[in-house]
Amino acid sequence: MIWNREMETLGRASLARLQRERLADLVARVHGRVPFYRKKLEAAGIKPAAVKDLADITGLPFTGKDELRETYPYGLLAVEPGKIVEIHTSSGTTGKPVVDAYTQSDVDLWSEVMARTLAMVGATAGDVIQNAYGYGLFTGGLGVHYGARRIGANVIPISGGNTARQIAILRDFGSTILACTPSYSLYLAEVGREEGMDFSKLPLRAGVFGAEPWSENMRKEIEEKLRLKAIDIYGLTEIIGPGVASECERQDMLHVFEDHFYPEIIDPASGRVLGDGEKGELIITTLTKEGTPLLRYRTRDVTFLDRTPCACGRTSVRMHRIIGRTDDMLIIRGVNVFPSEVEHVLLHVEGVEPHYQIVVERRDKLDCLEVRVEMTDALFSDEVKTLEAKEREIEAKLRSALLVHARVKLVEPKSIPRSEGKAKRIVDRRQL
Ligand code: ADP
Ligand code: ZN
Repeated sequence: MIWNREMETLGRASLARLQRERLADLVARVHGRVPFYRKKLEAAGIKPAAVKDLADITGLPFTGKDELRETYPYGLLAVEPGKIVEIHTSSGTTGKPVVDAYTQSDVDLWSEVMARTLAMVGATAGDVIQNAYGYGLFTGGLGVHYGARRIGANVIPISGGNTARQIAILRDFGSTILACTPSYSLYLAEVGREEGMDFSKLPLRAGVFGAEPWSENMRKEIEEKLRLKAIDIYGLTEIIGPGVASECERQDMLHVFEDHFYPEIIDPASGRVLGDGEKGELIITTLTKEGTPLLRYRTRDVTFLDRTPCACGRTSVRMHRIIGRTDDMLIIRGVNVFPSEVEHVLLHVEGVEPHYQIVVERRDKLDCLEVRVEMTDALFSDEVKTLEAKEREIEAKLRSALLVHARVKLVEPKSIPRSEGKAKRIVDRRQL
């Protein structure tokens, strides 16, 4: 089901025209109203009137996460403060939180792109959406909420956590769509199974999972355990929250809602714009946002773009699922290591669960990687000899995938802390 057929299937030429008009309007707006951007544009020698073609975007300056922190909290506001109706922030675990301030038109935009997202799994007014993304300053909860309301579905605002209650609601309220992080969905499956829940008997049919990286194998596992169709949804606070891009029912890369969020891929080191299919850092320009619009925001997320048409009929550019994050990327003895690669390997190994942690330590000035991974109950009851052989097997597989050595430690089932929101996969002890 396509929520906004007109916009989502717009011909490429018309789309480009619309993007060009919106870009020109955006540059004029931020130049006129945001001193931070006026300075930046002037420093780059750019006059708003000179931005005529979409290609002119490559001459515009980037916006970095540090700059959002320097202008905290309201330095990037492009409207009168009285026009702001809602505020969200990022979790701020890596520094000062970044602030996204929404006008009513931004909330309407958010509802629209989240309605498009939920419609990707065929959501209609008849659906019961169990929304287990956190409500509050985190964008996940309210983003899904607004999309569900726009569709007219019945949304259960349970928010994150409270697993026993999640299970009871899944069982009693007839939830048809589950919204949460992929890692939390697996945790729900685990707890549900312990309580004797038969997922195949539930009306649950689809899941919209995002906010953290996951893999194709993890999707298979989620789909099998929860008996639903799982799609990947993507977004970030700085841009709007969830609703930037989403997989359609084909589950083959994420459609970027590019009539509002214009994507580019650059080489993170040089800033050079890369072509379709080339892996690099995702840059997004918010073409229509009013409250805190951003020019060429450096997301730090690594992916690539694909402009081949999708069988679903939508004409938008698609992006590959997030491969890693430029700032999450571990550099181990000069080699770039993404947690997603570790996960990919683990999901191909018999006898282990997709619950793992990557611990980085510095010993004798050398970075050492240790991957702790949970065994299945079956393997846990095996002999020490078998466990050791299994550890060596995983080490060999990791080495050929990552090109660096990682020590593998099998740990007891359920010993790695479960997260109710985003999973914490990396423990970096080097900074201590
Ligand atoms: P923070 O984590 O700093 O609070 P956000 O909640 O805005 O900030 O998280 C946004 C980030 O989460 C993205 O930049 C991306 O790294 C990650 N993310 C969101 N959705 C996905 C997804 N579907 N796959 C992989 N990573 C995702
Ligand atoms: Zn599609």
